[in-house]
Amino acid sequence: MTELGEQLRGDFPLLKQTVYGKPLVYLDNAATTQKPLSVINKLTEVYTSYNANIHRGVHHLSQVATQAHEDARKTVAQFLHARSEEEITFTRGTTEAINLVAQCYGERFVNEGDEIIVSTHEHHSNIVPWQMLCLRKKAVLRVIPLLPNGELDMQAYSALLNERTRMVAVAHVSNVLGVVNPIEQIIRMAHANGTPVLIDGAQSVAHISVNLQALDADFFVFSGHKIYAPTGIGVLYGKADWLNAMPPYQGGGEMIANVTFEKTTYNQLPYKFEAGTPDYAGSIALAEALRYVQAIGIERIAEYEHQLLQYAEERLREIPQMRILAAPAHRSGAISFLLGTQHPYDVGMLLDKLGVAVRTGHHCAQPLIDHLGIPGTVRISLALYTTKQDIDAFIKALQQVADMLL
Ligand code: PMP
Repeated sequence: MTELGEQLRGDFPLLKQTVYGKPLVYLDNAATTQKPLSVINKLTEVYTSYNANIHRGVHHLSQVATQAHEDARKTVAQFLHARSEEEITFTRGTTEAINLVAQCYGERFVNEGDEIIVSTHEHHSNIVPWQMLCLRKKAVLRVIPLLPNGELDMQAYSALLNERTRMVAVAHVSNVLGVVNPIEQIIRMAHANGTPVLIDGAQSVAHISVNLQALDADFFVFSGHKIYAPTGIGVLYGKADWLNAMPPYQGGGEMIANVTFEKTTYNQLPYKFEAGTPDYAGSIALAEALRYVQAIGIERIAEYEHQLLQYAEERLREIPQMRILAAPAHRSGAISFLLGTQHPYDVGMLLDKLGVAVRTGHHCAQPLIDHLGIPGTVRISLALYTTKQDIDAFIKALQQVADMLL
């Protein structure tokens, strides 16, 4: 195994610490990633060198900040292989981006009796906004069930598509099980039905190369903080035709072309959905994070993390009464498990005392956890700086926990 993680972890200052006197083993990357120094420095650079409100300024600093924000949009467009930067809207994160689409697309295109399809895998943020839309419009939420191995039941999906289906909204990668969904096929089938697709890329964007022109997704959303960028910044990619056809999300500065008390006309893309002062420090730092990832190469990261995840899965099987949840053909980023009948919280708390950060609980995917008939899971999730030593230290700690609990 090439130790990419060993080479890179020095770039992440936070990882150098100890917790309860033990070296930190950070395996909660699906919740949020740590930041490389270049991203932290970029935030400092904005605030020490050219902080000024963007777009409306005639003065030098405002122009520098505006240029940097718009360059960041270009970097995101290139990273995702979007057609143009006007298809990139900055949001607060995945959650806000999905709410934006559910509200604005829903307002224009969803009516009583129409149907929205999500999957059993979804994070609450890809369920609740659609549920709220369904309540508002008297539409119906349909759910793609899972096969016993945790993959989507594609036959059932095919049967759910019909002339009332107005949107298919699915995760690229499950944040609980790490299952990689066949989004190419999902999109092809939806399009054959005349239905647009929103892909929740929160758990894929840092791990899998995304080419939106090849994928032909109508909407793709992600959060910066899951790809080594700061919190509070995220992205909505939308095909220009859809975005142009949707009413605006929030009203305010920047999203307008002209305002009178009688009538307001709206700005063109990409500003139409960016009301108010955007998080330009965040967008500029996000672009820095994407450059960091690009310099390593997303394919190389994917290959490295894949080997590490397989190694982790093999080593987990050494632990007595280990129950690894789901056995999909493709897994990325995360593994969920249970230790016998032990509550996930107890396992997570004991691991924490041994310096290992994992996440336990329902992972904001209660319907999936209910479907699995369990109280929650223990989840480990990887990043490009995770090392084989991290996995070995985690397994050693888990063995100790097993000795204590079982
Ligand atoms: N979708 C998925 C699949 C996620 O993993 C997450 C974050 N756990 C979200 C959506 C929500 O992301 P955020 O809280 O950054 O908006």
